[in-house]
Amino acid sequence: VVTTAIDFERDGKQSDYIRVPYSSNSSAYGWLPVPIICIRSGDGPTLLLVAGNHGDEYEGQIALLRIAREIDPGGICGRIIIVPALNWPAVAAGTRVSPLDGLNMNRIFPGDPHGSVTSVLAHYLDTVLFPMADIVIDLHAGGKSLDHLPVAAIRGGLTDAQHLAARELATVFGIPHVVTTTGAVGSAAMTLHASAERHGGAVMTLELGGGGTVDPVGVEMAVDGIKRLMRHYGLTPEIDVRAAEPVRFMRLSGLGGAVHATYPGLFEPCARCGDRVEAGQVAGLIHFPDQPLRRPERYMFGTDGIVVCRRFRSLTEAGDCLFLLMVPEDAQT
Ligand SMILES: [Zn+2]
Repeated sequence: VVTTAIDFERDGKQSDYIRVPYSSNSSAYGWLPVPIICIRSGDGPTLLLVAGNHGDEYEGQIALLRIAREIDPGGICGRIIIVPALNWPAVAAGTRVSPLDGLNMNRIFPGDPHGSVTSVLAHYLDTVLFPMADIVIDLHAGGKSLDHLPVAAIRGGLTDAQHLAARELATVFGIPHVVTTTGAVGSAAMTLHASAERHGGAVMTLELGGGGTVDPVGVEMAVDGIKRLMRHYGLTPEIDVRAAEPVRFMRLSGLGGAVHATYPGLFEPCARCGDRVEAGQVAGLIHFPDQPLRRPERYMFGTDGIVVCRRFRSLTEAGDCLFLLMVPEDAQT
């Protein structure tokens, strides 16, 4: 059974682990040490902050370590629970998915108490942490395979009220682009975001950079946004943080705006994250290093839009996503 030494009802700052039992060749009776911090004082809302859902996404991990160190329990009214390196084996290995069971943490919620370690951990969040939380934020980035424009992602919500609460959350947070995604079915229903939403709170996912490195702009956006939330929702009414820029509500442009490779080769991107592009514009080329005189394959953007992410790795296989575009939420295309 999963345990922790943290008493979530106690005032003060506590740091321990979500202790997920794991028996291996090197440790027969051990547990995985998934770091968790609880900062609490008196009554108020509970904010749950999670990073390291994918192990190779770093801006959120660093932002949450800063928040965990900086926030003094004396200054807050309510509770902040921070899980800065959720899929700990993946974080320790620098990989997207767990090296222990090969599972993508963000496709297996609500988890399974009798499953493998990643499923057991997901089940702990779904049954222990999500029910305590009024606000849940899951911090991501593009990881090693993608570069990602910083965006906040929200969903339609289970009710209109929940969607409006998420819009308010994203507006207060202040990342300039807010993308509303759909996806109540299939693997999109098995994300941390979807699972947390079923408990009724306001939920938001952040994308903060990518490439398997750290974009300092993404780290600052996350730290400032969390402080704005803490002030807005009454956790830390006195905290000092700069004002947010106004946000623009967007949506993904759908299949017409996605560009995927259809040949293996070397990907040369012809646009950057944040670029405004037009239908018919060249998105990128796939070169064939084993056939030097073969003309590279050209890929065009299918719609107008803003580049929200692009493939970061050069070596590419057929089926790899090269670009996604976003458009204003009221756009016709
Ligand atoms: Zn991710």
